[in-house]
Amino acid sequence: MRLVELGRLTRLTWKGGAEEWSLAKAPLLGVTPDGRRLAIVYVKPGTKLAQATPSERAHYTKLHWGKLGLGDVRAGEIAGGPWTELGPGIAITYTTRKLGDGEPVDYEHVWGDIGGGKTKPRWTPPRIKRHDCGERGCPDRGRLAIVGGSYRVTSHGIVG
Ligand SMILES: [Zn+2]
Repeated sequence: MRLVELGRLTRLTWKGGAEEWSLAKAPLLGVTPDGRRLAIVYVKPGTKLAQATPSERAHYTKLHWGKLGLGDVRAGEIAGGPWTELGPGIAITYTTRKLGDGEPVDYEHVWGDIGGGKTKPRWTPPRIKRHDCGERGCPDRGRLAIVGGSYRVTSHGIVG
């Protein structure tokens, strides 16, 4: 799957639970180039990320309000099934570092929130799932996925 990197996934909240990661241990949050699907990308510590292509870099820059950044999630792994459904997604936070100054910036999105306490009509939240095969040595053990939902990722970030 081709993905553009949004940043590090540092917090994910669903109805009934949440998971938080330190910046050093956080998985990457990627998005498909059409902006329709978020993907959680797990990278083993010490993995050297490949260089982003110019088009990935341009797309990343567009998604970060013109900031220059490296978008590369190709060295990671996306968990597969079997899944346990945890619940509808409520909010997501991803963290990026601006090149040069190294200052991390958090972007939080509450799904379905259009401001003033209102929810978008005919909106569906993504569903949060956790890999659950029951095998103790499984590399996907505990990993999460964001499935479905009517949000889009645009130059304004996650919308809907
Ligand atoms: Zn497994």
